[in-house]
Amino acid sequence: MEEKRTCKSICKQFKVKKPLHGGRYAAGHARCQTCDIWIDYRCGHLKDGASAKQESVGWYCNCCNFKVRKNPRHTKYKVKLRSSDTATAGKSAIDLSYFNKCRAQMIHGIAKCLPRSYGDFNMSRFKDQLKEHKVSALDVEHEFDSPIKNLVKLAYSTDPPNKMSLILEFDLVKRRLGTVPTKDNLNKHSKFDVSQYESEFPSWEHFLERLGYDPWYKSTR
Ligand SMILES: [Zn+2]
Ligand SMILES: [Zn+2]
Repeated sequence: MEEKRTCKSICKQFKVKKPLHGGRYAAGHARCQTCDIWIDYRCGHLKDGASAKQESVGWYCNCCNFKVRKNPRHTKYKVKLRSSDTATAGKSAIDLSYFNKCRAQMIHGIAKCLPRSYGDFNMSRFKDQLKEHKVSALDVEHEFDSPIKNLVKLAYSTDPPNKMSLILEFDLVKRRLGTVPTKDNLNKHSKFDVSQYESEFPSWEHFLERLGYDPWYKSTR
């Protein structure tokens, strides 16, 4: 027997707002994909029917009875994600933990020159694009002490995401919308949650500022 997924609107009264600081998941919020809503433990129960507690993991939505997503999509890697710079650095030999404005804008410059998928990547076209965007490959390689193709690879490694792939995704959404994405835009169009940005960068505003955008531009939704 297959259970039908339906929202009975019980969840509405438990809808939780985005915290002012830090990510949703960090605040204990969970995403019910059936009800398409952010809720917390007050709208949850455990497998045995007991009410979910603040610290419970893996609970079910009281409204639709389906399991909620209590963590970002790639959360097996959440711990890794938090200390991700070391993890990523080990894998790719590029250390992005130091991330000043200059580095952020170099990476953003590279992202602007990349196609949506790695399958469409073409080195000579990429180099032309870099010239067009006035990004010096030599400067980049010098700054990150690594061949630029390693940064390109990093941009397409999304599991777990890293600063480079988060910035590429941000730019792809920006290209699609034709404007700087807001948090809401990003949650709607990006394959990453805003919470993933907020765990990799100190805050959303900080992220925008590093990339050279006005952090208050529409950032408060
Ligand atoms: Zn519901
Ligand atoms: Zn639900």
